[in-house]
Amino acid sequence: MPLSLHVKRNNPTMIKAILFDMDGVLYDSMPSHAQAWYETMSAAGINAPAAEYYLYEGRTGRSTIEMLFNRDLGRAATEEEIKRLYTQKSKRFEALEYPESKPMPGAWEVLEKVKALGLQRIIVTGSGQKTLFDKIEQYYPGFFNRELMVTAFDVTKGKPDPEPYLMGLKKGNVRADEALVIENAPLGIESGKAAGIFTIAVNTGPLPDKLLWESGADAVYPSMLALAENIEALIRNSITFPKIRT
Ligand code: MG
Repeated sequence: MPLSLHVKRNNPTMIKAILFDMDGVLYDSMPSHAQAWYETMSAAGINAPAAEYYLYEGRTGRSTIEMLFNRDLGRAATEEEIKRLYTQKSKRFEALEYPESKPMPGAWEVLEKVKALGLQRIIVTGSGQKTLFDKIEQYYPGFFNRELMVTAFDVTKGKPDPEPYLMGLKKGNVRADEALVIENAPLGIESGKAAGIFTIAVNTGPLPDKLLWESGADAVYPSMLALAENIEALIRNSITFPKIRT
């Protein structure tokens, strides 16, 4: 059964793999990340509201800390500060997020459809939690393979650099035009697009759709549930050309 998709070219292409971002796509974990950043960085004298941290999703923790120190304190963060603040933020995140993580509504339905179509599922995340795959197996058993994951341990440059998604393609042994990316964050969308991949945005947070379009998204859906309703048609019927506005 051929699956075809027009991705800004004239010839239909076989889609073989879907590359999934994790936070904000598979887990509804961004409120905890934003809150943990806000509490940690406010105590260090940074003047950013919690919602601002949604803009930095996908950056490495180091680069977020360095950028905010330069901006608000007018100086570079020391190595000690970077390590201490990132550790604090991670601990606070875990306290907010555990013992129960919240799976993103609709993510299961998207995964079931993608699996039924026989497409590979690959995770591409900037997260560096050591227990990440165990948690994936707990919440999404049988959908993912430990070998088909790109995490903070695999890359030197985080999103928006194309490296994470390029590595996802390599691990899945697929070309850019044989894959789709599902992302929620502006920097993640930039990363997917920089890797040359058709990138679907799901707006699961507080940012305006406009920001996701401006980051280069090829389609924007209001939720994973909305994407679940459309993903088979999206893959089968080449309806992604021209851009979809929902
Ligand atoms: Mg995300």
